[in-house]
Amino acid sequence: MLVAHVALPVPIYRLFDYQLVIPAQIGMRVKVPFGNRESIGIIVNIDQQSKFDIEELKPIIAVIDTTPLFTNSIWQLLNWAINYYHYPMGEVLFHAMPILLRQGRKAINDEIKQWQLTELGRKIDLQTLSRSPKQKLLLSSFRANSIIETNFKLATYHELQRKLLIQQQIIPKNLIDWRNNFSINPNSIKLNNEQLHAITTINNQNHHFGVFLLDGVTGSGKTEVYLNILSKILASGKQALVLVPEISLTPQTIKRFQQRFNAPIDVLHSALTEKQRLNVWLRSKHGETAVLIGTRSSLFTPFKNLGMIIIDEEHDSSYKQQEGWRYHARDLAIIRAKIDNIPIILGSATPSLETLNNTHNGKYQLLPLTERAGNATFAKQSILDLRGLVLKAGLSQPLIAKIKQHLSNNNQIILFLNRRGFSPLLICHDCGWIAECPRCDRPYTYHQKQHKLICHYCDTTRIVPEQCPKCGSTHLIPIGFGTEQLEKQLEILFPNTKISRIDRDTVSKKGALNSYLTNIQQGGAHILVGTQILAKGHHFPDVTLVGIVDVDGALFSSDFRATERFAQIYTQVSGRAGRENKTGEVILQTYHPDHPLLNVLLTKGYQEFAKLTLQERQQTQLPPFSYQVLIRAADRNNHYAPNFLQKIYDWIKINSDQALWQLGPMPANQPKKAGYNRWQLLLQHTNRQKLQQILDQLIIAMEKWDEIPKVRWSIDVDPIDN
Ligand code: ADP
Ligand code: ZN
Ligand code: ZN
Repeated sequence: MLVAHVALPVPIYRLFDYQLVIPAQIGMRVKVPFGNRESIGIIVNIDQQSKFDIEELKPIIAVIDTTPLFTNSIWQLLNWAINYYHYPMGEVLFHAMPILLRQGRKAINDEIKQWQLTELGRKIDLQTLSRSPKQKLLLSSFRANSIIETNFKLATYHELQRKLLIQQQIIPKNLIDWRNNFSINPNSIKLNNEQLHAITTINNQNHHFGVFLLDGVTGSGKTEVYLNILSKILASGKQALVLVPEISLTPQTIKRFQQRFNAPIDVLHSALTEKQRLNVWLRSKHGETAVLIGTRSSLFTPFKNLGMIIIDEEHDSSYKQQEGWRYHARDLAIIRAKIDNIPIILGSATPSLETLNNTHNGKYQLLPLTERAGNATFAKQSILDLRGLVLKAGLSQPLIAKIKQHLSNNNQIILFLNRRGFSPLLICHDCGWIAECPRCDRPYTYHQKQHKLICHYCDTTRIVPEQCPKCGSTHLIPIGFGTEQLEKQLEILFPNTKISRIDRDTVSKKGALNSYLTNIQQGGAHILVGTQILAKGHHFPDVTLVGIVDVDGALFSSDFRATERFAQIYTQVSGRAGRENKTGEVILQTYHPDHPLLNVLLTKGYQEFAKLTLQERQQTQLPPFSYQVLIRAADRNNHYAPNFLQKIYDWIKINSDQALWQLGPMPANQPKKAGYNRWQLLLQHTNRQKLQQILDQLIIAMEKWDEIPKVRWSIDVDPIDN
């Protein structure tokens, strides 16, 4: 009797054994009994052994696939990831599938069904349908070959079918081979020497594994380099995967890909239906997609013949999954490139310190683009000392004067403030009561336009109270300011100027961002207020002034990564000023004009900042000079979670070497969220293997512990927010 070891989508580390009574292979999905229901699982192993009595095992109910679901390369990648991230196998495997496949849908493309005229339909006198004008119109459209499917109801089709005037034909889906018609649309750009050097270096890799960091300031022509290199890859018949932080923010880039190549470019964006997602997955697996552009999870799409991976804005934190299985898509992409033996390009104007360090130690090859392509010049940057100045919604008089000046030249202005809402606090003027989310113990953000209090941690919403619940006073006042208030203030100061606010509140509607952007690109005086959404990859040729309204929060955070993140956002936002032929200016308001980091950043730039910060990290043995794992636990009574982590702490202390450093258990950065008390234990080691080994052993040991069910817990390997 054969035994199938099956991974099920449950947060349990072990596999489940079933009698394999139907022929099947490793990597196929199966339907199995699980508890008192049925579940879909994936066969991970087949042999003749089980820890249980084989006779007692339940048999598999059905085999769903006829071939293993994943390609070899994805299967290897996922298995690597399961070991590295110490996450339950079933959850990882299911995470990597489109939702319809998780639900058991067959992994085959839909057949195309097409309506056709019958003999009768071709000949019959249209007047016979004169009493049903819709049917008559549909039939005549068929005859004129001018069907627009959505113009008619399905019922109308069925009526014509019933009258034997049209019929449905099923067309088996032929594989489309784009390679026969592939061509590159010529363009007139003359590449500069740095671009040419980057292209030659990567092409010299001859389609083999290698990691390249394209380190180019905003507007230095990185996308142009990608397009150039992809030309070769696609011309050789291979496919490419391009990861971007957020699809909705990159319409311009996608258009450039589509314009350059006569080949199918698939985009995995959030507006797709599940069925469309599955189809993209299948198209890519069968080689019908030439280029796939998508976010984080697109990394798990199988390809028939992948030739290159590009990770644009590699420093972006959206590549790290922040719940459940906390993988890093950039790091996994490098593993994937290694498995497939293909080159991978990381691109950024502000590379992460991890990646920069890997260029220093020779693991990645650095390809700098130091000049702005075409005629664009760099912006002039200055600090504005806020001490003693009067502020209006965060704006100082000198900044307001600058805005006036730039507007009078018919230019555009970006004001960057990384805080949405009207104010981060609503407080009772008489007794000091603060409106707080009871589930998170954090102040609600006041959103004036929606007339709501919104918790920015758990998204709980409530109506703004009329009265203070503590003293009954009606004098509730907003303290501090966010983008909504800034926008309002600007409307008062500049009543005749167009003002757009771009943050999660204003662009949540589909297509809203796009229409804002189009509006802005039409030119003319305009003020843009926004959060970091503004910092990402847009091309605003008329922006000449960028004002950073408030930086002090980022400079004084307890997270050692906060300064790196600030430097990246700052560099990206200021990169928006002065593209093309206009010289730009960046003004940074702060109460700490002498802050060393600010000064290095402004006078010497991101590179120098990164160098200094890396030195600091080396001295303090922080990542990337050591490796971290964060074990998180949450409970409802604030008792089980710390106890559970303490037990882990004690176990590790006995079982690990001296060099493993533990910090905790301690309350998480945000100690309460959505009713859960959150705790954490940080592990750090200078040797990655040793840290990995102790996790392996810990998980085996924990199988025998009993209080785990009362705690929600997870392992975060290489955490980015601790
Ligand atoms: P990045 O991706 O680094 O922001 P892009 O590739 O988008 O830069 O280039 C910015 C702008 O400069 C684009 O309009 C692009 O067409 C143009 N460009 C790129 N390379 C050159 C070049 N060598 N000469 C002139 N214009 C260029
Ligand atoms: Zn009060
Ligand atoms: Zn909350």
